[in-house]
Amino acid sequence: MKPEISLKVNEKFKADYVKGYPLILKESVENIESIRAEGAILRLTDKQGRFIGKGYFGKQNKGYGWVLTRNERDVIDQSFIRGKLESALAKRQSFFDNLSTTAFRVFNGEGDGFGGFTIDYFAGYYLVSWYSEGVYTFKAEVVAALSELVEFKGIYQKKRFDTKGQYIEEDDFVAGERGEFPLIVKENNMNYAVYLNDGAMTGIFLDQRDVRYTIKEKYARGKTVLNTFSYTGAFSVAAALGGAAKTTSVDLAKRSSSKTIEQFSVNNIDYESQDILVMDVFNYFNYAKRKEMKYDLVILDPPSFARSKKYTFSATKDYTNLMKEAIEITEDDGLIVASTNSASFGMKKFKGFIDKAFKDLGKKYSIVEEFTLPSDFRVQKEFKEGDYLKVLFVKMQ
Ligand code: SAH
Repeated sequence: MKPEISLKVNEKFKADYVKGYPLILKESVENIESIRAEGAILRLTDKQGRFIGKGYFGKQNKGYGWVLTRNERDVIDQSFIRGKLESALAKRQSFFDNLSTTAFRVFNGEGDGFGGFTIDYFAGYYLVSWYSEGVYTFKAEVVAALSELVEFKGIYQKKRFDTKGQYIEEDDFVAGERGEFPLIVKENNMNYAVYLNDGAMTGIFLDQRDVRYTIKEKYARGKTVLNTFSYTGAFSVAAALGGAAKTTSVDLAKRSSSKTIEQFSVNNIDYESQDILVMDVFNYFNYAKRKEMKYDLVILDPPSFARSKKYTFSATKDYTNLMKEAIEITEDDGLIVASTNSASFGMKKFKGFIDKAFKDLGKKYSIVEEFTLPSDFRVQKEFKEGDYLKVLFVKMQ
């Protein structure tokens, strides 16, 4: 049995939790910082001791745990977890039925009723990502419940919390049979090479599926494409398959080059006809400006925070400047795909950053496409921060 700890919610936050806000914050409950028992069941009450909700303690980069139910009779056990997984799986039936896409999210943390872990499906394999030591204490129940509900080739996991430097590769494999990596998954009939046993990342960010498809289907044909912060080049692959004249992928990470070559190769695209550069995006902007190079399509998908030798980038502070750099190397009738995964601001503010960039440069634009998270990344309406993705297709005028 897990220990159960009662916590009083501060008056100011009571209404939020009563309405269903799921994240337990330092300032919203009394004395949360004194708790050490990762995975302990938390019973939230108001000042008078009246029940508000039940959850667990799990320290994440944001928050100290999640509320899981507002029903006092619920017990947080395997059957509770099974119920959440079952309803999440049912909501993804159309994804399982669609044979042109074999990689998608089946369980999206709080969006599916249990914050702190996610489950992705990759061509017969399931990948569970754990975001705190606390949620990891539910591993046996989650794996058992999942095994009861689905047929699988194998189950893998990623610990996305501080394991105090003890990263053990063996730890990635959980159940079933081991996969052979890269695993080739399909996304709208494009191929992507995926690794479930190689550090924090898999090689593809599934939340950009609709954006990749839109680039391929509507905006790539005949175009010169610059993909900045390109990682494994997933956007470049989509553009090339959509008939781009040429793609240029720029990323600082040394590994990005071989990873991008691999993504092109599994799609039978000759990578030598594409440019793949390992360098700082900001240096590349300077280089392109000096050479008076311009692109028809520029893709911007920076991390929320990044520090390189010469530059620091924070989406909140620097997106306008990044956008200005992009505008200067985009053709007059070109298009910029501006993306951010920062949860610190919403769509309105993001549009403000874009607008300011054009105003500062005295240029006009129109927004031709707008994306947030795709439907498999379910979000809870009481938890707006969970809806982190914002992507705008901005047409120069
Ligand atoms: N757009 C990618 C995901 C980007 S992840 C996709 O859709 O798959 C962020 C990437 O930015 C990382 O690969 C990181 O190496 C890279 N990066 C961070 N700072 C950078 C910089 N200053 N210049 C170039 N790349 C950078």
